[in-house]
Amino acid sequence: MSGVRSGPKPETRNPKPDMSHKFVEVVTSLPIDRTFQYRVTGKESFAPGIGKRVHIPFRSSRRVGYIVAMEDSPQVEDVRPLIDIIDEEPVFTPEMIDLAEWIKNNYFCSWGEALEAMIPGALKRGKISMTSRISEEEEKVEPTSPHEPNPEQKKVLEDISECLDEGRNEVFLLHGITGSGKTEIYLQAMEKVLSRGGSGVVLVPEISLTPQTVERFRSRFDDMVAVFHSKMLQSSRFAEWKRIREGKARVVVGPRSAVFSPITRPGIFIVDEEHEPSYKQEDSPRYHAREVAIRRAAYAGVPVILGSATPSLESYHKAVQGDYKLVELTQRIREKALPRVKLVDMRMEFDTRVGHTVISRAMEDILGKDISKGHQALIFQNRRGYSTFVLCRKCGYVLKCAKCDSPMVLHREKSELICHYCNRRLPPPAACPDCREEALSYRGAGTERIEKAIKKILPEARVARMDSDTMSKRGAHAKVLKAFKKHELDVIVGTQMIAKGLDFPKVTLVGVVSADANLNLPDFRSGERTFSLITQVAGRAGRGDLGGEVVVQTYTPEHYAVNLAAKHDFKGFYDREIDSRRDLLLPPFVHLAKITVRGRKEDNVIKSVNRLADKLRARMPDADLLGPAPAPISRLRGYYRWNVLLRAPDREKMVSGLRKALKGHRKGTGIYMAVDVDPMSM
Ligand SMILES: [Zn+2]
Ligand SMILES: [Zn+2]
Repeated sequence: MSGVRSGPKPETRNPKPDMSHKFVEVVTSLPIDRTFQYRVTGKESFAPGIGKRVHIPFRSSRRVGYIVAMEDSPQVEDVRPLIDIIDEEPVFTPEMIDLAEWIKNNYFCSWGEALEAMIPGALKRGKISMTSRISEEEEKVEPTSPHEPNPEQKKVLEDISECLDEGRNEVFLLHGITGSGKTEIYLQAMEKVLSRGGSGVVLVPEISLTPQTVERFRSRFDDMVAVFHSKMLQSSRFAEWKRIREGKARVVVGPRSAVFSPITRPGIFIVDEEHEPSYKQEDSPRYHAREVAIRRAAYAGVPVILGSATPSLESYHKAVQGDYKLVELTQRIREKALPRVKLVDMRMEFDTRVGHTVISRAMEDILGKDISKGHQALIFQNRRGYSTFVLCRKCGYVLKCAKCDSPMVLHREKSELICHYCNRRLPPPAACPDCREEALSYRGAGTERIEKAIKKILPEARVARMDSDTMSKRGAHAKVLKAFKKHELDVIVGTQMIAKGLDFPKVTLVGVVSADANLNLPDFRSGERTFSLITQVAGRAGRGDLGGEVVVQTYTPEHYAVNLAAKHDFKGFYDREIDSRRDLLLPPFVHLAKITVRGRKEDNVIKSVNRLADKLRARMPDADLLGPAPAPISRLRGYYRWNVLLRAPDREKMVSGLRKALKGHRKGTGIYMAVDVDPMSM
């Protein structure tokens, strides 16, 4: 906690400044780890106050800054005066300023960068107000009332209510199997908070991935709900922010950045699908929204619920240790059974079948049977496009992006090869660029190829594809789901867009085309990701009275992540995985910081990263350093990338040590460096 802050003073509405504070400490969005002192002249538009925005002279220009402390005496001679104070009322509450400082200390960014992550874009540019409009015509949802909880749900709700009644901070890890009614727990806990005049935040991985969850909140709490999503216009975003700040919207539903919502009386924080990597921001400030929610709940002295069918190893480990309270839902609602999962060994499929295919006989049979009975199916393949790589059969050459270390992917509908990392596009060449033979072969199966295969197997079926290529238009997603709900479609083929939250009673088959697509990635979380993805997708089956079945195609049915997911055995998976993390000294037993050095000239990058590693070894002798080594995607958008990994038991100490070690570090010209604490990808 900062000792400099003089604490929130009673706000004075008197435009004449309170002369007991002649100086203010200001931070800016620059990545500089310090505050700057300015003098209050008394000629500003408003009185100074913590959390207000100011215009400051900075070097030779003018910038927006944020007041984080007020002081009576100068730190140097000749303190420069403020240009002006922008706000009558503070934009940031003392809680937000404190939170930003915590983010700075834990995630390697500046205090100002952390503050800026919390507010809508317009406020960052120093605007006083903007015409805010709720432009997006939301479709009206039918109001719903609470369901009668089953005994398990009742028990969980009692635990949470008790915590609310006692006004106590506690982290609940809600481990509930798919279809066990986690959302109903969220809704009823939120209702309790609202009835006492409080407000709450519900984080979801991405609105477009969880449309039914959002709809349920809106149907229960109507216009009390503010929703954020990534395709939202700036003006709507600002309008929602204002509604929250004024206490008109008291339930906030949104992705990662919604964790910063300025709710008036925080009563609860809910993180749905807490294991999702999308809660980690990839750019500075590289915070983890789940950890921020836990921090805010602790500050407010209220509960936080982390919900998942497949909790992250980090969270479950904390629950096992007793830091979090584990609450469980082990039964599906209305006594539905979990679907049976059939593993299909694709190696056998190749051995016994002439010609190659992407859909196994087992999947084909069940699909045909189910659709003919008037049921529906979801077919999951987490890769878009037609092929996943282009190979020359003569010389073995694989077509890669000219700027990235990544294979080009054929998109047949667009007749283009596309790089999925930088979006570079090429017309498909007639011959191999290397040996000039016309021997190019399009290998691997993306959603386009799967869609085509299914249309061939079932010419009568109505099939739609759901991936970021077909869903780029606003509203496209809702349209397909609506058609599916009305049974105007029989099959949806899709990427992770269909993996979670969907609840359609007529879906009796869920197909996973390649379960092990991610298993061989050079990332220690690849097993965890695979387990969780199979479990989540499988959970879409058998939610109605018709029952359901899941067919999982794999080349490695013996891998524990695959076969334990097929058995719905989270605990078995956890036990196995946690042992390996302990042995290999990986999270949750340590914290990692990934330092990526990149530049256009490979030699310079290597020189720079070696110099960095030497410096870290010299200045952090106790630190455990891994690398330098080329990043898994060793070239991206024309930049060569190398990583150094730091491993330490204490995150805050690691960050402060790193900050000291890197002070004045010269990267070299044309070299960029990024520090990611607790990285979610390698
Ligand atoms: Zn590329
Ligand atoms: Zn060739």
